[in-house]
Amino acid sequence: MKNTLKTSKLFAVLGNPIKHSLSPTIHNYALKKLRLESFYTRFCLPQDISADDLRSFILSSDLSGVNITLPFKERSYQAVDRVEGIANQIGAINTIVRKEQKLVGYNTDAEGFYHAIKNYNPKHILLLGTGGSARSIALILSKHNIELTIANRSIEKLSYFKQFGNTMDLNELCKHTQKYDIIVNATSASINGVLPMAKECLIPLLQQCKLAYDLMYQHNDTTFCTLAKKYTNALDGKAMLIYQGALALLYFHEMEFNDIEFIKIANLMAESLGITL
Ligand code: NDP
Repeated sequence: MKNTLKTSKLFAVLGNPIKHSLSPTIHNYALKKLRLESFYTRFCLPQDISADDLRSFILSSDLSGVNITLPFKERSYQAVDRVEGIANQIGAINTIVRKEQKLVGYNTDAEGFYHAIKNYNPKHILLLGTGGSARSIALILSKHNIELTIANRSIEKLSYFKQFGNTMDLNELCKHTQKYDIIVNATSASINGVLPMAKECLIPLLQQCKLAYDLMYQHNDTTFCTLAKKYTNALDGKAMLIYQGALALLYFHEMEFNDIEFIKIANLMAESLGITL
């Protein structure tokens, strides 16, 4: 792998709130182990910062690259000079690399999610939620020809998802007996410690699936993972965080993508959190 890094570089994750972010932990651990003389920190930006101000913040700083988290992913799409890859279709970015005075945007969330679940070899996935993360997940899964059913509490945003598969509201989902290989909780219900749908409807779905995946992560199991673990394998969003972070690290250091190095970086990041992938 070609490493073009010459001098010490500074990276950061930008969000609000940001205190809880594990990105500095996983990046700094990997950077040290890889002997890359870079440092990764975090910045809490005002909730209402404009795309222009976000852009100025990065360009007037010493930052060589940033990760973007809630609530700035869509806004950042407008803040960069160029968008590359799948981010163009998603309309949101989570990684920005500064090249001279130009900002280049990428979305590594979608690929990160795919790497987290691909070993389960899913044929049919149930996706709960229609927010920004659900959009990127639906897109990457459809690119891998995985059959999708998308369900949400409210029906307004479901129409966008018709291009990716069956869509329905959660009440209708309760009436179906369809079996899914993976159930993905891409709602933000876990943030409030609640399940994304009625427990009595969720349990039969969990009993029949190979994996329940909650995008959210926290120190302990999320409400969704706690229930799911009684019936099947369950993972939280740390694996997705790690894979999207490993890909971002490669972009930050302009390293050519290579499966072996990618997995090596992901494993280092996992080690920093005391988990195995
Ligand atoms: P959005 O705010 O864009 O979307 C929220 C979604 O959750 C909507 O579909 C909403 O439904 C649904 N929802 C909210 N509360 C409930 C509830 N109580 N019951 C049922 N549905 C509910 O969020 P994002 O897509 O940006 O993020 C979703 C989750 O993914 C968050 O928990 C976030 O932390 C996590 N995430 C994790 C990442 C990682 O690396 N691990 C990366 C990105 C996100 P409705 O339309 O009806 O309001």
